[in-house]
Amino acid sequence: MNADVVIIGAGPAGIQAAIHAARKKVQTVLVGKVRNSAMHGIEIENYFGFNGVKSGTDILEDGLEQAKSFGCQFFDMNVLSLSKDGDLFKVRLEDGSEICARSLVMATGMTRTKLGVPGERTFANGKGVSYCATCDCNFYKQKVVALVGGQAEAVADAEFMTRYASKVYLISPTFDTSPSLLEAAEKAGVVKIEASVTEIVGENKVKSVKLSDGRTIELDGVFIELGGKSSADLAMEIDLFPEMDDTIKIDRNCRTSVEGVFACGDITGKPLQVAKAVGEGAVAGLSAVEFVKKVSE
Ligand SMILES: Cc1cc2nc3c(=O)[nH]c(=O)nc-3n(C[C@H](O)[C@H](O)[C@H](O)COP(=O)(O)OP(=O)(O)OC[C@H]3O[C@@H](n4cnc5c(N)ncnc54)[C@H](O)[C@@H]3O)c2cc1C
Repeated sequence: MNADVVIIGAGPAGIQAAIHAARKKVQTVLVGKVRNSAMHGIEIENYFGFNGVKSGTDILEDGLEQAKSFGCQFFDMNVLSLSKDGDLFKVRLEDGSEICARSLVMATGMTRTKLGVPGERTFANGKGVSYCATCDCNFYKQKVVALVGGQAEAVADAEFMTRYASKVYLISPTFDTSPSLLEAAEKAGVVKIEASVTEIVGENKVKSVKLSDGRTIELDGVFIELGGKSSADLAMEIDLFPEMDDTIKIDRNCRTSVEGVFACGDITGKPLQVAKAVGEGAVAGLSAVEFVKKVSE
């Protein structure tokens, strides 16, 4: 499938970018899961036009309908990888399909979601807990690792880690991804466990994880991959290098250092607020349209 503008991330920034791009009548595609937005399930009382407390979920759902009403096509999925092919960007989705886009808008928020169990913080920063398989795979050659997460990224990265580690577990109470992706991971040797991790245990480094079903699994590394691949990880796949704090630098038109790629929302840095996300979303959507029109002339 081809599109003029592909927006990655269905939070307030991405949805606003979709509204502004689609209203300009360019082929606009929005990819992401509204239920994974930081705004989902919260209550907002400092957003313009809503006097009193308003449900973040309601605003997101109304915004998504608004974007669709202007012609935006929506995929309730995560993006697994990005690549560049000449002037086009290739966007691979979790069901294996691919979209070729002339322009990209990165609106994936700050997605390094924490597991929130004892031991996680203790063993982060090089002691066995990682949030990025692509970055740290080399440290686990011929070792035993677990990928914690039930969405497409964790499953795909579990399969990827079988090329490095001697044994790979995939741990989650539920799996919310396509059966073909799970099948491919299991075929590559991934051992799937339906349980939650309740504790990460070790001394100087990680030694095991305790599970909700009472078991203890001995291992060397734990990759926590809850939610979508972060903008930082995706960006590196198209040679867009994030700052030290994983944010993406933009100019006042929301342009990044890669031509045709724009960014908006929490991923560009503080303040992490809906009003700022929406403002940047509008600018990024319009800038992407302008870029597409310029390259089509
Ligand atoms: C508890 C809490 C309370 C808050 N209260 C307020 C408040 O009162 N007022 C306020 O202004 N702000 C508040 N915020 C902050 C606000 O929610 C965020 O600033 C805002 O949601 C950022 O929008 P965003 O679109 O940049 O990112 P997000 O809303 O996080 O959306 C990111 C989107 O990207 C998607 N995504 C990630 N990776 C991928 C991938 N690989 N492929 C496809 N999609 C992907 C996610 O699924 C999600 O849909 C609060 C946040 C929290 C956590």
